Amino acid sequence: MTIANVANDLNFQVIGQEMYSLIEELYPICRSITGEGFRQTLRRLQCLIPLTVHEVPSGTQVFDWTVPKEWNIRDAYVKNAVGDRVIDFRQSNLHVVNYSVPIRQRMSLAELKQHLFTLPDHPDWIPYRTSYYKETWGFCLSHRQYLELKDEEYEVCIDATLEPGHLTYGGYYVAGESSDEVLFSCHACHPSLCNDNLSGVALVIFLARHLAAGPHRYSYRFLFIPGTIGSLTWLSMNETCLSNIRHGLVVACVGDKGHPSYKKSRQGNAEIDRVFSHVLKHSDPDYEILDFSPYGYDERQYCSPGFNLPVGCFSRTPHGRFPEYHTSADDLTLVTPAALADSFSKCLAVVNVLEGNRTYVNQYPKGEPQLGRRGLYRLMGGVADSGLDEMAVLWVLNLSDGTHSVLDIAERSGCGFDSIRRAADALIECGLLK
Ligand SMILES: [Zn+2]
Repeated sequence: MTIANVANDLNFQVIGQEMYSLIEELYPICRSITGEGFRQTLRRLQCLIPLTVHEVPSGTQVFDWTVPKEWNIRDAYVKNAVGDRVIDFRQSNLHVVNYSVPIRQRMSLAELKQHLFTLPDHPDWIPYRTSYYKETWGFCLSHRQYLELKDEEYEVCIDATLEPGHLTYGGYYVAGESSDEVLFSCHACHPSLCNDNLSGVALVIFLARHLAAGPHRYSYRFLFIPGTIGSLTWLSMNETCLSNIRHGLVVACVGDKGHPSYKKSRQGNAEIDRVFSHVLKHSDPDYEILDFSPYGYDERQYCSPGFNLPVGCFSRTPHGRFPEYHTSADDLTLVTPAALADSFSKCLAVVNVLEGNRTYVNQYPKGEPQLGRRGLYRLMGGVADSGLDEMAVLWVLNLSDGTHSVLDIAERSGCGFDSIRRAADALIECGLLK
């Protein structure tokens, strides 16, 4: 039973629904790069896969960075002169600038306004703001709410703690026949935002479950980390085993209705870059391949020059290019089960190509072997009753000289990977290929 066989039996509609349900469950949690919200998220994920949770103390040096103090929040509000909560953390955790230091103080509107953030162009949306590495505080609110604030005295309270503690991340390793690894990484540090990046979390969870269920050639590693500081921490603690990573993907923003997009690794022509491009080219009329740039998600760290790992990034609409990005409008209406299922199927197709991308040798390279004599003549009539493409058979025979992989042959012939692989399997069966 190969991964491809297993994939044929999957009901993608059901999987899309399950991914969406997981996002619904995780959506209310107030996550950050450290703290209980992140732990609570991992505990929920541990019900789905046997995730190992790692705790790294605040103050730990990771390359040029330091693991920050741990942030936890219980409540936050701004009350007007009559004691009504005009900004209320209980209504949306986006109302508080993530990582705000605790404060309890009365102040004028003018003073309060120094700490308020809105989106005048989208007056009903609450922006998502963070201040991880500068100790300050603030509130985010809709511009409409902001315009309604009267010139009076306000009571401001952020009931939070910022103290030495830990950075938490989750990892899951599924061993394969080889110690060569495929890395899937997602950031899980955003509070109530769906596409960025609960969609990525859900996709990586369902991939992990799927890959743990069947045999495979590669080993697979799944990381659920806080953005930037999490990948730096993981890289710093695992520097000696990075040479096992053969291919990698950062997964983010994979639940919106936009078409799929793939951002290449820094290497630009790594196998994962070619495989993802091939899968999109052969499965979607609309897709986008983007060159590497040192901006985006954790591929920035994996692809920093000291590591230069073959890690690309899979998204639908890339970050910053959908108006709802980092606002309260990145909610449960922005992601759909159908888009999640499609993203899942793309990743499975990529895994399928990676797993099947081997190099063969034609055993009868002097002239074309006589296919009819070996029961392959029907193929040559161009009739597709066997499901084989006669051009694929000829391309495999011609290019299988020990230097061209199945993907090389697929790319050069213009055929899909599966078509070339089926031809190769048929030729192996009759002894023409090894
Ligand atoms: Zn983000």
